Amino acid sequence: MPCISPKVLCRRLGLRPKKSLGQHFLLHPDQARRIVAALELGGSETVVEIGAGLGALTVFLAQAAAQIIALEMDAQLAQGLRSEVLATFPNVKVITQDALNFDFLGLSRSLGHPLAVIGNLPYQITSPLLFKLIGEKPAISTMVFMVQQEVGQRLLAGPGSKDYGILSVLLQYHTRMERLFTLGPNNFYPPPQVDSLVLRLQPDGTTLPAEDQSFLTRVVKLTFSQRRKTLKNTLAAQAAELGSTPEQILNTLEQLAIDPQRRAETLSVDDFVRLSNALQQAREPG
Ligand code: SAH
Repeated sequence: MPCISPKVLCRRLGLRPKKSLGQHFLLHPDQARRIVAALELGGSETVVEIGAGLGALTVFLAQAAAQIIALEMDAQLAQGLRSEVLATFPNVKVITQDALNFDFLGLSRSLGHPLAVIGNLPYQITSPLLFKLIGEKPAISTMVFMVQQEVGQRLLAGPGSKDYGILSVLLQYHTRMERLFTLGPNNFYPPPQVDSLVLRLQPDGTTLPAEDQSFLTRVVKLTFSQRRKTLKNTLAAQAAELGSTPEQILNTLEQLAIDPQRRAETLSVDDFVRLSNALQQAREPG
């Protein structure tokens, strides 16, 4: 397979990498191969790639799975990708679309099987995309993402850490995450400011199940809305937001033996689930 450097390809296509779209292209095929290998494809899968860029990952995906849907929002880049890089790969479909609007559930439903999802994620869309994907979890088998080190740390952080927050709790609730390896800035053209981290995420964490996942999301978001304040001052003070009263919230915390003077960042994922389940039961009559 011809391996043209991203710099040369950009010049040939008359393109300049766009910072606003998080365009940092992988330079080394060995690294691309390593990232694709992390999806552990068997050959029959449909893979959705987020932000295909100049196809560094796509060419390896095309050889490892049945069908690749490559999403690329930059129309010029998508066109170059089709004509210069992927012309010899009939199993790749390049779609010019914002990944944040892609219907993963619809595609999975029409194919009758879940999708593998991969991407060297543009920084700007990382959090909203991850939230979207956990909302469409039944459509997904495995995900492998490269993210900025700092986002990776937030995803993997545990209680008590300054990085622990909404993203950590919800992603750890919905998926099992593994930190695979890091890549320094010199692996990209142009080099980003920071290191990148490759993670594998498998839907369905091993935690206690929440009775209502959207209620859990509301509880987590409200609790972290003022992370330096106590649970008493966030949850109880804003009880109405959860269809509850301050007394009910304080009672529930007491029943669960969670001290209302604690802060959001000290609660474990299981604590949030227990809290969400108990608050929901408390507000349901009977
Ligand atoms: N996968 C390539 C490119 C990574 S750079 C590689 O590893 O070399 C990230 C890519 O995501 C860029 O090509 C950028 O244009 C694209 N992108 C940015 N925002 C996007 C969005 N919302 N939806 C789809 N693609 C997007």
